Amino acid sequence: MAARVQRLSQSMLKTLRDDPADAETLSHKLLVRAGYVRRTAAGIWSWLPLGKRVLENVTRIVREEMDAIGGQEVLLPALLPREPYEQSGRYEEYGDLLFRLKDRKGGDYLLGPTHEEIFTQIVKDQCSSYKDLPVIIYQIQIKYRDEARPRSGILRGREFTMKDAYSFDTSDDGLAAAYELHRGAYQRIFQRLGLDYRVVSAVSGAMGGSASEEFLAPAAAGEDTFADCPNCDYAANTEAVTITVPAGDTAGHPPVEELDTPDTPTIETLAAQLGVPASATLKNLLVKVDGEITAVAVPGDREVDLGKLGEHLAPAEVELVTADDFTGRPDLVRGYVGPQGGMAGKAFRYIADPRVAPGTSWITGANKPDTHARNVVCGRDFEVDQYLDIAVVEAGDPCPRCGTGLTLDRAIEIGHIFQLGRKYADTFELDVLGQDGKPVRVTMGSYGVGVTRAVAALAEQTADEQGLCWPREVAPADVHVVAAGKAAQTELALEVSEQLGAAGVRVIVDDRAGVSPGVKFTDAELIGVPTILVVGRGAKDGLVELKDRRTGTREELPVDEAVARLA
Ligand code: ATP
Ligand code: MG
Ligand code: MG
Ligand code: MG
Repeated sequence: MAARVQRLSQSMLKTLRDDPADAETLSHKLLVRAGYVRRTAAGIWSWLPLGKRVLENVTRIVREEMDAIGGQEVLLPALLPREPYEQSGRYEEYGDLLFRLKDRKGGDYLLGPTHEEIFTQIVKDQCSSYKDLPVIIYQIQIKYRDEARPRSGILRGREFTMKDAYSFDTSDDGLAAAYELHRGAYQRIFQRLGLDYRVVSAVSGAMGGSASEEFLAPAAAGEDTFADCPNCDYAANTEAVTITVPAGDTAGHPPVEELDTPDTPTIETLAAQLGVPASATLKNLLVKVDGEITAVAVPGDREVDLGKLGEHLAPAEVELVTADDFTGRPDLVRGYVGPQGGMAGKAFRYIADPRVAPGTSWITGANKPDTHARNVVCGRDFEVDQYLDIAVVEAGDPCPRCGTGLTLDRAIEIGHIFQLGRKYADTFELDVLGQDGKPVRVTMGSYGVGVTRAVAALAEQTADEQGLCWPREVAPADVHVVAAGKAAQTELALEVSEQLGAAGVRVIVDDRAGVSPGVKFTDAELIGVPTILVVGRGAKDGLVELKDRRTGTREELPVDEAVARLA
């Protein structure tokens, strides 16, 4: 099938010699300089012709691999009503991360950050019997998150494209099978994209559910750190690493004051014990769920709304503990559930750990119980909101599986898979009729790929000093033909390009008049198509030069041979 020949003389393309002033990462600099993307607002990007092609190539690979595991593509709205997110608790939990808006009648809407709620509702509407399951549905769609720090270009957008898939099963085995299918599909996707990646254990945290793994692309620009064991196959996001806390001196540290609660307290009985109305907003409060403290109200900083708690938690699970002041009380604070899974930092997990002596080598958590950062004192070294910047484990810490010293590396989170279980099915009472005629509660998985982020991750991993350097399957073209300057050279370059195009080779041809050969060569390197074909001085003898963008290897050969080799 004939492929497209793009003539730069007729294209909208402006490359830049200098890095954009605000750019910190390589992908940000190069994607802007090479004319792939332009910033429209902080964290909001326009995709220009070259960028759009790369994005389409990535999208196609993701779609093919999702279809191959039986995924059915749908498209849900990005503009969503408040109610389902209110029902799941995430309208609150997401906090400032959520873009909220009102319609002309004053109704509340949001721009979808992820779609568990809506997919659950769709399946509730569409599936009524066990015979309708299992099902995998997915979309490739724009998501919105009002990220606190939308640095790094398209690596962290406030508007970005995600492939989000959801599996629905009647049994835990079914969910495990769907999870494995996605794991395999993701490995094939990232392999085909040409990404260097690792699969690591992750925290499922505020998404809910149990098993969770991330796909990380090692890169200096990454905002995640993962621990890797050189001896066994252990690899985990540092947020999910567990390290044993050495016993400390607890002398002089008053224990947490616990309220005398009935065995199965309700919000009302708890409120009564505290001497406040059930709808009160409290400070200086810890909330325990299943014996673990899951919410905290730091004096002057955080508040717990009792009424809201009542909506989201079975009252029997809730037990309240008061603590006067957390400042200077590191002994009260160890584990933490923080902004993750897109959460904006509203859910905190603080666990009293009397073994840790304050001021000493003190270890506290990040994102998960038993997840720790060293040498930190709450209130002295950080505010709650800065918490995610704290390194969690150190290089050389013992591998939890085999004891070997761990290595730490930076990486970009390109995918994340979760076994959600019944969290959303419970919220929306998603049941189907089972084989025995009785209703069965459905169990779910959710699976995300950062499609726009994958473009940036690839750029990060493959670029060199000259510019971008795409793997062939995602490159905006296969061959970049440079007509060095003279009219005869341009004529031959166009002829060669047409021949290649007819043979199904995707071509960019730089036939711009009045642009120096030097600029054309620099642009070709910057744009990063895998093969550069130069029609220059040798053209009069029927010779062209083939250059491999990655290795820099050049070879002069007759036109016909060059075309035959590339076709
Ligand atoms: P991060 O930790 O980088 O904030 P996340 O854990 O909040 O990401 P998920 O909720 O797991 O993200 O979403 C699934 C995937 O969507 C992520 O693995 C990532 O590839 C992508 N993604 C998330 N946030 C962004 C963003 N702001 N810009 C671009 N891609 C994103
Ligand atoms: Mg994630
Ligand atoms: Mg994450
Ligand atoms: Mg996030």
